[in-house]
Amino acid sequence: MTPPLPSTKSKRRSLLALLRNRSGTLTQELVLHPGEFGLGKVPARLKPDATTTVVCGFCSTGCGLNVHLKDGQAINLTPATDYPVNLGMACPKGWEAITPLRAPDRATTPLLRNANGKLEPVDWDTAMQVFTVRFKAIQDQFGKDSMAWLGTGQICTEELAFLGALGKFGMGMIHGDGNTRQCMATAVAAYKQSFGFDAPPFTYADFEQSDVIVLVGSNLCIAHPIMWQRVLRNRSDPEIIVVDPRKTETAMAATQHYAIAPKSDLRLLYGLAHVLIERGWINRDYITAHTNSFADFAAFVKPFTPETVAPECGLSVEQLLCFAETIHRGQRVSFWWTMGVNQGHEATRTAQAIINLALMTGNIGRPGTGANSITGQCNAMGSRLFSNTTNLLGGHDFLNAAHRTKVANLLGLDPALVPDQNSLAYDQIVQGISDGKIKGLWVIATNSSHSWIHQSRFTQILKKLDFLVVQDMYHTTETAREAHLVLPAAAWGEKEGTFINSERRFGLVKKISRAPGQALSDFNIFKLVAHYWGCGALFRDWTSPEAVFQILKKLSKDQPCDITGIRDYRMLEECGGVQWPLAEEVRGEKSEVRSEGRSLPALPSSLPPLTSNERRLFEDGRFFHPDGRAKFMFEAPREAPEITDAEYPLLLLTGRGTSAQWHTQTRTGKSGVLRQLYPEKIYVEINSRDAARLGIRPHQMVKVRSRRGKLTARAFITNTVQPGHIFIPMHYEETNRLTFPSFDPYSRQPSYKACAVAISPTRTK
Ligand code: SF4
Repeated sequence: MTPPLPSTKSKRRSLLALLRNRSGTLTQELVLHPGEFGLGKVPARLKPDATTTVVCGFCSTGCGLNVHLKDGQAINLTPATDYPVNLGMACPKGWEAITPLRAPDRATTPLLRNANGKLEPVDWDTAMQVFTVRFKAIQDQFGKDSMAWLGTGQICTEELAFLGALGKFGMGMIHGDGNTRQCMATAVAAYKQSFGFDAPPFTYADFEQSDVIVLVGSNLCIAHPIMWQRVLRNRSDPEIIVVDPRKTETAMAATQHYAIAPKSDLRLLYGLAHVLIERGWINRDYITAHTNSFADFAAFVKPFTPETVAPECGLSVEQLLCFAETIHRGQRVSFWWTMGVNQGHEATRTAQAIINLALMTGNIGRPGTGANSITGQCNAMGSRLFSNTTNLLGGHDFLNAAHRTKVANLLGLDPALVPDQNSLAYDQIVQGISDGKIKGLWVIATNSSHSWIHQSRFTQILKKLDFLVVQDMYHTTETAREAHLVLPAAAWGEKEGTFINSERRFGLVKKISRAPGQALSDFNIFKLVAHYWGCGALFRDWTSPEAVFQILKKLSKDQPCDITGIRDYRMLEECGGVQWPLAEEVRGEKSEVRSEGRSLPALPSSLPPLTSNERRLFEDGRFFHPDGRAKFMFEAPREAPEITDAEYPLLLLTGRGTSAQWHTQTRTGKSGVLRQLYPEKIYVEINSRDAARLGIRPHQMVKVRSRRGKLTARAFITNTVQPGHIFIPMHYEETNRLTFPSFDPYSRQPSYKACAVAISPTRTK
């Protein structure tokens, strides 16, 4: 007799799984066939009929991925062996880049919140009508500046420019910022003040050419694994110095690790400057020829003696002297920093203290040198230069009348449409919502409800909005769940455009997969918005991403980021990306590093040939201030915004957990492969001494509290964190319940790195 079928859904599911198991993978599917396209052998189902190179859509390294296509759709990928960035390597995220596109929670249709408070599917026409009517009503009632957008460093440069131009010139908004505020704003502010323009000077070849590599607040092994691979290709057996309160993976691989007290980096850097000056370990010729304000700086750092600074930083005097002497002995010293510096309460001055060291020792503008900020997101640099948020398009200045006229003329606009004031920064937009001044918000490709500092306050503030639109590839993000209207966006790999990586390289993004359902590229959504808003005529020439790229070229002319020498997308393809600047007249400049494994393209005969695909800035010692000199910037260190006390006796440090996780895990969490590579649930690292004192056993559940919130996590006892500190990875939704909302005064970047907490065991194991 046939047994009765299970009645519950779950039983049915298990039965189906069992039945399917019987068939398994057919042997014929496992047989390897010649892959062609240089791919060796591949299983039949993964045999491509074409391949193409695309720039990765996660981090700012900007690796080239060789995507395998069948019938025009991506079926697999391998790292591109001849791309000058990654040279055949990729981290786990890159290998899994296609998987998040197939996730079941992709937004496939616009969703509008109905009278019952539920999000329900609507068509694009309805979505655009509602978008326009609601936002226009807000602007009519409360003024143009009552609406703002929060963008991203994750969409293409052309899309960022479209959003910025549409928002400010078409829709009349004043305020728009991006999630790049959370990662790169400090580097922008520091470079602008020190160099006269937001200009990271390096090329990745510098990792391979230094004899001393100084990494401040950067866990390169985890955060930028392919850059770390470039370090490992260095044949000079370099000294690798890591400055980090934690014994990170990078610190373990370093030759010198300075485990400083959290947020004592500025004092340490001033202490190093003091020693270098006192001992005459500086390059006077370079300082005299190319910089300003050195005498003032030298006087300023006089009190920062090793005896004063070392104990404040938790180091010995000998350690400080050893650090300074290593810099002095180096012939090619490169200084690198990232979020450990950028996300601090005095971050801009800290970044500039690093820049000062490079300037005073003449370690800039030569191979293997530089004061080098490593970017976070795949297109943070595109956001910095072309998003029309902190800069007027192309690195111009909203406060400069000549810049406004130039941009307006090039775009055929009435100059009155270009705002003559700067946008509020991200935190000020949030405060504006809290104060009831901003009533409408458009969030594009960022998950603020997860990532913004002091998260619970942010989520409460969001509820004050009259209208919240979220444009995203998933309808399930913490922010999308709060929206009145969700616009379904195509993702990386489902559209085309360019990203600009950490070393200023424009790389191509291509359409290698169809977007699901009715999802549209962000570019096409902006076109739709322009049409429905009634300002489509302003963008009649913005017909395609490549057409916008040509417009951006014109906007960049005579700027430090001049790209008029990049002919078109095809040239980017042929070169393996191109670093800015490349003005038409300098296409033939000489450089000692040649493109690896790739022949550079022939250019029109009227132009000299492009001889190198690796270029660094400031080789001529000229900076972007009007007098061509860099400036020493400095200021007395400030007290940390939240210090420990009896109730909250530990400092919480945050940062990246693994190379398989990306930011809020919105995408990496969709990959079963990546999820195997990191702990699924939140965990907290605690020193064994603190654990013993507090009665915390390995893997026990613990409660972590700050003045703003609490979370429960599994304890991981390790001496990679110092006594008195704990570490929680940034990727988990709960982490920002604890963080303290303080901001660098110049960059307005949030300080995620150190706040006071308490920890105690729970009864649950
Ligand atoms: Fe992509 Fe960055 Fe990994 Fe390269 S290092 S594969 S760009 S995530």
